[in-house]
Amino acid sequence: MDTFEYNPNPGRVVFGSGTLQRLPDEVSRLLVKAPLVLSTPQQVSQAERVKEVLKGQIAGIFSEATMHTPTNVTDKALEYAKAQGADSVISIGGGSTIGLGKAISIRTGLPHICIPTTYAGSEMTPILGETADGLKKTRSDPKILPGTVIYDVDLTMTLPAAMSATSGVNAIAHAVEALYARNTNPVINMMALEGIRALASSLPEIVESPSSQSARSKALYGAWLCGTCLGSVGMSIHHKLCHTLGGSFNLPHAETHTAVLPHAISYNAPNIPEAMKQLADALPDSNGDAIHGLNVLLTKLKAKRGVKDFGMKEEDIDKAADIALSNAYWNPRPIERAPIRELLRRVWAGEPAR
Ligand code: NAD
Repeated sequence: MDTFEYNPNPGRVVFGSGTLQRLPDEVSRLLVKAPLVLSTPQQVSQAERVKEVLKGQIAGIFSEATMHTPTNVTDKALEYAKAQGADSVISIGGGSTIGLGKAISIRTGLPHICIPTTYAGSEMTPILGETADGLKKTRSDPKILPGTVIYDVDLTMTLPAAMSATSGVNAIAHAVEALYARNTNPVINMMALEGIRALASSLPEIVESPSSQSARSKALYGAWLCGTCLGSVGMSIHHKLCHTLGGSFNLPHAETHTAVLPHAISYNAPNIPEAMKQLADALPDSNGDAIHGLNVLLTKLKAKRGVKDFGMKEEDIDKAADIALSNAYWNPRPIERAPIRELLRRVWAGEPAR
């Protein structure tokens, strides 16, 4: 066995159906009395549910969370938190709302309870991406990691099928890159494979019948495992390309991850034979070929494959290749311009990975 280091992230996880009812106990555990509840404008009704469960004992609801955690929204939320005397934050929503919770928590030291409603995995990471003056900057700090996470499958039932599919593939991407991370370890490897298996088997069922409680539960379990992978080991080309595309061309987060994943893995394939084998074993219908397995999965999920459909222009391909090469980072295969440009062209056009 290779030498490794393992640094588990602290944090408490409550998982199940109806677990939102456990929120009062979790708030008491933290010895706080006035949480500020955060949501997007689209999820105000879920924020209201939180207020109800806490019998009105909250500092207030701030429902302006939005994608990429803009710092002007954070400033507004901070002012409101102070005016209302908040002593903690509760974020109910996807990565956008959890990002706002992290941004408030790291600035104030207030404890943060997360109630995730997508599969993006941010709740399990000490990572925060924030946007100021059109630039998205990401940082990692153990203090960013939320202290308590309540997974309640009931809250994910309203996540539309298409969003469930792309959000779930976003989670799979965390686990796939963990398989070949330079600092991976046997525990994360186990979680990554279990997470991929859980999501790859449940997502097609969710797309077919979005009200399947058992499929939703399995997907949420997979999302937890994949989020743990993202929070524990380093990511490589896939995440860097998605960051470049999302940040520079304002492309939607989960959809971009979905379009890029098979291509990024195909690029690395010659240098990661063991990970490719493990991934193929974890994907149903792979016939021993991980790329084929991913292509089949995305077809079953009816996922859009070309980022041109999300507004990226053909002339942006070169710009994206330049940006992708400008920041040095570790990847199992060296980053070379010509194959990266071709990868981006295929992602732009929506051609299946080979
Ligand atoms: P999101 O939070 O932006 O949500 C997308 C939309 O779906 C929103 O309108 C939201 O209100 C709605 N929604 C969420 N859950 C719902 C539900 N159960 N029912 C109905 N509607 C629901 O999407 P996301 O993909 O979860 O998050 C993307 C953001 O998270 C990006 O900014 C990304 O950078 C960030 N992210 C950060 C990390 C990290 O570790 N820091 C990890 C993953 C994603």
